[in-house]
Amino acid sequence: MAPTSQGSVVSENKNNAACMPNKPAPTANGATVKFNPCLSENKTSIRGVVAQLLAMVNPEKPLISLGVGDASSFPCFRKGKDFSDSLLAAVSSSMFDCYPPSYGFPFARRAVAEFLSKGVKHGIREDSVYLTVGGTQAIQVCLTVLASPGSNLLLPRPGFPPYETACELAGVEARYYDLAPRRGWEMDLSQLRSLADANTAGLVIINPNNPCGAVYSSTHLQQIAETARDLNIPIIADEIYGHMVFGGSRFIPMASFAHLTPVITIGALSKRWMLPGWRLGWLAICDPHGLIKQVKVATEMLMNVTSGPASVIQAAVPGILSDSHEEFHRNVLTVLESSLDALYARIGQIEVLQCHSRPQGSMFMMVEINTTLMFGIENDMDFAKELIREESVLVLPGSVIGLKNWIRIFFGIPADVLREACDRIESFCKRRQIKSSSIL
Ligand SMILES: *Cc1c(COP(=O)(O)O)cnc(C)c1O
Repeated sequence: MAPTSQGSVVSENKNNAACMPNKPAPTANGATVKFNPCLSENKTSIRGVVAQLLAMVNPEKPLISLGVGDASSFPCFRKGKDFSDSLLAAVSSSMFDCYPPSYGFPFARRAVAEFLSKGVKHGIREDSVYLTVGGTQAIQVCLTVLASPGSNLLLPRPGFPPYETACELAGVEARYYDLAPRRGWEMDLSQLRSLADANTAGLVIINPNNPCGAVYSSTHLQQIAETARDLNIPIIADEIYGHMVFGGSRFIPMASFAHLTPVITIGALSKRWMLPGWRLGWLAICDPHGLIKQVKVATEMLMNVTSGPASVIQAAVPGILSDSHEEFHRNVLTVLESSLDALYARIGQIEVLQCHSRPQGSMFMMVEINTTLMFGIENDMDFAKELIREESVLVLPGSVIGLKNWIRIFFGIPADVLREACDRIESFCKRRQIKSSSIL
């Protein structure tokens, strides 16, 4: 359970760096088996909560899932999608049946470095790119490398739960800074400074943001980099939604500010290229002044003893990252933006729901629930449960990602399906709304 800014619905670990001792599980012969207390049954994850909610679906209505961020199954997002040729060629050549090098094939690392260097002053060097099993492994590697006894990391709230779990497993304390819903979900830099101390090992930012859809301006990014420089900490920039921006906003890579403080960029093919199942991600260290050379060495130590992405998938990377897929990317953004328009307009009409900042990127929107206007709904978890029970619409309860009485809505689905989902959400909210006469 992510600690929320307003308390949480179920019990949570106050200090997630030191997991509470677990009750040993009894075995057949009565002995007990111990296991990692960070992995106890009440560990909350997006997938865990989603599975729990899916078990409650109304059998009379087809399910519409706005819960998990995977748009790859919808044909409307496949227009111009043509990534299979280089993979098929790699498979049939048999040249990639071998183990890949620990950090990835040099040609694939070069392709990622060139992709990330576009428009970035200091550029990313090929030998500073490490290929990982999706963005998730990049998170795990990065946090494991930065973990030292007694250290802490600054994470966004609302946020992305794998960061919290990676902190727990690595024994690092997670400290949460708040994103401001009424100020485009920007960070409060003075709060950030107050959270940091001599043991702070880094600052995680997600831009474009999951779950809020925010895209930070150049000014805000610079302020963040200056703050990190003053605190003497590197920035871990999760840019998995990089370039997935619309409505006239511009994506600026954090590495553009690496002259101020070192930047470790995390990315993957999962979201922008809609290939989450290919499990290919990366982390890239941009450290023009050589301030975190030891982090680079430690990353290499770890990569030497872990296992990376499949050779054949790596072989496809240069083709996938090349400039020849403009039509696909343009179409994805067009479809996403029309779905967002539909969603944003409809949410604005539902009295008990409110979206304070229209998303400018990623595929997610955060919506606040006014539970005081509803009956039988105490919190976001109740809202999600009752909604799926009655209307077969799945949304993610905000408490899973650190914000109680909010929900996260995924809009990477065709606009007509989203409209149907909005119809159902609206009729649910109307049924559950306390009539003004009964308040008196
Ligand atoms: C999806 C996602 C990732 C990692 O995804 P993979 O499926 O492991 O590639 C990392 N960060 C954020 C913010 C994400 O939304």
